[in-house]
Amino acid sequence: MSVGIRQLETDVLILGGGLAALRAAIAAASAGARVAVMTKGTAGRAGSSAITSAGFSVAIGQADPADSPQSHFADTIRGGGVNRRRLVEIFCEEAPARFWEMVSWGVQFERDAGTGRILQHPSGDHSHPRTAVCVQHKGIGMTLPLRAAAAGVEFLDRIIALDLMHDENGVSGVVALDQQTLELLAVRARATILATGGIGQLYPVTSNPNDVTGDGLALAYRAGARLVDMEFMQFYPWRLISYVTGRMPVQPSSFVAGAVLRNAAGERFMPRYDPERGDATTRDIAARAIYTEILEGRGVQGGVRLDLSQAPLEEFIRLNPRVGRYFSDHGLDLATAELILAPEAHFLMGGVVIDENGRTSLPGLLAAGEVSGGSDGGNRLDSNAIPAGQVFGRRAGLAAAADAEARGGAGLGQEAVSRWAPRFSRRVGQRAPGSPNGAGGGIDRKDIKRRINDLMLRAAGIRRDGARLAEGVRGAAILEADYLASADGPRDALAAIELENMALVASIVVRAAEFRTESRAAHYRDDYPVRDDAHWFANVYAYRDTDGQMALTKERID
Ligand SMILES: Cc1cc2nc3c(=O)[nH]c(=O)nc-3n(C[C@H](O)[C@H](O)[C@H](O)COP(=O)(O)OP(=O)(O)OC[C@H]3O[C@@H](n4cnc5c(N)ncnc54)[C@H](O)[C@@H]3O)c2cc1C
Repeated sequence: MSVGIRQLETDVLILGGGLAALRAAIAAASAGARVAVMTKGTAGRAGSSAITSAGFSVAIGQADPADSPQSHFADTIRGGGVNRRRLVEIFCEEAPARFWEMVSWGVQFERDAGTGRILQHPSGDHSHPRTAVCVQHKGIGMTLPLRAAAAGVEFLDRIIALDLMHDENGVSGVVALDQQTLELLAVRARATILATGGIGQLYPVTSNPNDVTGDGLALAYRAGARLVDMEFMQFYPWRLISYVTGRMPVQPSSFVAGAVLRNAAGERFMPRYDPERGDATTRDIAARAIYTEILEGRGVQGGVRLDLSQAPLEEFIRLNPRVGRYFSDHGLDLATAELILAPEAHFLMGGVVIDENGRTSLPGLLAAGEVSGGSDGGNRLDSNAIPAGQVFGRRAGLAAAADAEARGGAGLGQEAVSRWAPRFSRRVGQRAPGSPNGAGGGIDRKDIKRRINDLMLRAAGIRRDGARLAEGVRGAAILEADYLASADGPRDALAAIELENMALVASIVVRAAEFRTESRAAHYRDDYPVRDDAHWFANVYAYRDTDGQMALTKERID
């Protein structure tokens, strides 16, 4: 079979389309590089960035002049524990400059009507009021101005990256698929940045949109990059599940303003789990507490009650304008409605190992945003993700531009092209040779996704234990079967790509969670309920060894 493949070429290729990708693109273009941004959806309108609540935690001292990057650093380390210190220092020091830069590009943050100063909200995670919020309370208030600021950048929308290519100098771009035409592309790049976001879709209930399926982690792992902290998955504790159909988060600042949680017996239970901070605690503790109440039979309609009787309603609505609007639009009274909250899978703390400038362990490959790991440790603080994506997105963009300039060219990765070309050169409906599904088969996307979701919920949910993790490891090995081989034509193969990536990443998460035999931050094991600093004040690294097997190691933090 002769295989034709369209080729494109650029200096810096960025895989993503959310806030980290856009910030990297602006930086690389400003350094004079030719830049292309490849997005599975549409850049600026896809990924978690487009739907985020748009909080930006930053020590700019607008609400409390005593705040400082040093205090932000101390809080971030206290929350995450095993964070890579140098990354956190850089993040906290540079976040203020990245914040004001966003303002200069037209991102509007809430301001005090009288003084015009930026409003900074408190939350249980931060020791000073530190979270500025975009006036739209939605990510597109940030992504669209950033996309507009990315002058001269080529946007390759609706194209999915399938695999990294390599030449003798390292990663040399990607093999990708145009999702509309099903045409295969090879994009050669002197430097490639992963900014493909997290893994929310691996879980059955998540805040993350459909395109957040862990692709970048799978691509990096297959290519031999090192991943870190993959056992740490954050569950957002406070998703409103009564009355609403879509996602409606209640903001952490609500609990500083007096909102409290109650179980079926009417007990205000949070002080049992965090005697010091009570309801205004960190996300890991709140998620575990709510889940435990439900598990032990003290739940209400699959969640717990939100009691606003001690919180001024006006203040609650000011902090949660989407909730306020929804209730008034539907003629519901927030003061009397029974508000039920439950946790949802939200954010991956771990990811691809990066250095201070976003370089990974593979030459030619950099990473930024949620796909990268190290700065959050075991628990990401409220609204630390967006600023970290801006700080390391910019650094990765600049480093990629410099690396691209230093590198001669970028070759076509023949091996990756040969692997993918046959799958997309068949006509739709034409069966792959040796397809295991039998006549009339094709993959059952919904069924496979449900199996991945069940596995992750059972093995790598809010509370874990050795037996369920071992079962998860076995299940993930079965799920890692080659769905692509059973795909019935290119459309089916397109659906199978994400499933294969999800199955692979699921197996990395459960293996890392099984490896860490203690409880720490967002990783809680019923069989090892105590934090064990003597053995586990360490990061867990996962990578593919030379035999193609998954290897796990731990490295103590100095
Ligand atoms: C509902 C919600 C509320 C949040 N609220 C806040 C908040 O208030 N403050 C805060 O700091 N953080 C918040 N977070 C977290 C934060 O928004 C995210 O961590 C951050 O936006 C991730 O940005 P990113 O650029 O790394 O990835 P994303 O924005 O997720 O973008 C990933 C991009 O990669 C693309 N992609 C994926 N795979 C491929 C592929 N194979 N080929 C090509 N493209 C691909 C996707 O289409 C997408 O465009 C929230 C998250 C959610 C979901």
